[in-house]
Amino acid sequence: MLTHFLLGASLLTAATASVGAEPSFAASGREAHAMLARLCDDFGGRLTGSAANRGAMEQLANELRALGYEPEWNTFTFPGWERGDDRVELIEPFARPLRVAALAYTQPHAAFDAVVVDLGDFEPGKLSPGLELAGKVGLLSPTTRLTTRDFARLAAEQGLRAVLFINREAGGQLLARTGSFVGEALPVPVYSITQEEGRWLQRLLARERPVRVRMETRSRCRDVETANLVLRLPGRSPERVVVGAHFDSWDLGQGALDNGLGTAQLFAFAHALRGQTLARTLELVWFNGEEQGLWGSRHAAATLGDAPVVAMINLDMVGVPIAVNALGDESLVPALERWEQQRPARMPQGVQNINWFGSDHTPYQLAGVRAVTFNAPIPRESVRYYHDLADTIDKLPEKIVVESTVIIAEVMLALVNDAELGAWRRTPAATQKLFTDFGLEPRMRAVGYWPFR
Ligand SMILES: [Zn+2]
Repeated sequence: MLTHFLLGASLLTAATASVGAEPSFAASGREAHAMLARLCDDFGGRLTGSAANRGAMEQLANELRALGYEPEWNTFTFPGWERGDDRVELIEPFARPLRVAALAYTQPHAAFDAVVVDLGDFEPGKLSPGLELAGKVGLLSPTTRLTTRDFARLAAEQGLRAVLFINREAGGQLLARTGSFVGEALPVPVYSITQEEGRWLQRLLARERPVRVRMETRSRCRDVETANLVLRLPGRSPERVVVGAHFDSWDLGQGALDNGLGTAQLFAFAHALRGQTLARTLELVWFNGEEQGLWGSRHAAATLGDAPVVAMINLDMVGVPIAVNALGDESLVPALERWEQQRPARMPQGVQNINWFGSDHTPYQLAGVRAVTFNAPIPRESVRYYHDLADTIDKLPEKIVVESTVIIAEVMLALVNDAELGAWRRTPAATQKLFTDFGLEPRMRAVGYWPFR
């Protein structure tokens, strides 16, 4: 039913009031790619709480000031984590260091030696009977269906001293998966190990060759004070469209795709819209703490109060869109269809309406705000590197930033200008249904997001 949505129609005029020249999102996309290349090369990965993250965010704020803006810092504290000088080496059948990276929320541990045991998928009831786990280090397959939180807890219950989790991407990569999503310390150290080294250890164990490792962990949990960076472009109406992208990344690489891309897209909008006054207020938000559990967007959504928000657009690794997604909220579909139908070139997959969980749109949705994401695949040869050392600016062609920026800007302006869309929130019951209808409750429950109030 659309009645509630039509009743919310406001008195806005449909036209964009332009004070300056027509914005060129393509030209601004090129500027944004260059800005991102500087951030990546000058600061590296932007793990929330690190000096690199802080420095890069200050640099972004300076770049926005150079455009004539005054961005705001919205600070918050969350249970964070820092990587220390961890050491994991093989000592039997021969000595050599292993290529590993601790998963977030791994805690410090003094050096110890232990034999390695193959856990397979670590499905309860599927381990070989009589297999002794206490005091050993478990080697876990990438095909496990357990969450990090669950397998770490199970490992501790069985007396394992640590887990080596084999990476699901081949090619010497690490961190395909990450640590706790709720800020809890892992009860045993958990390390990502390359697929090649993990498979090798599995083969040795299958032939009953003894495998021993030595491990020393200095990474640690700590409270982290950080900030979201917010840039508000006041419109003729205080009703807002929020466009958010997480600024933080993992630390091993440069976080160019995840999510330097979204960081650049937001910058391109700011760059293109200098001197413009839009029908509605546009709020651009660079979130921190996304990778460790959506902390920045949770903070932003929790501080929304009853601000009149028309919709939130989330940009997390958005390449060139082939579809726009209303995330299960029917009331947003007509506006997206109106936009899609007036385009000269239609979207290959049009308007979708499928909710999904796992990025910064979720906290806004849980606050009753309508949200939008894009189906916008990034080429496999780039996306396979995300989270790891090789997520670097050379994997992100300027063309992707430019073409994606142009299409996302169209959707953003459609929501800014659509007079039939009012600022509107779902009831908690309707919000709950939005997640249960799409079967998302079990996954959200597994990472501590359910019940949500
Ligand atoms: Zn991301």
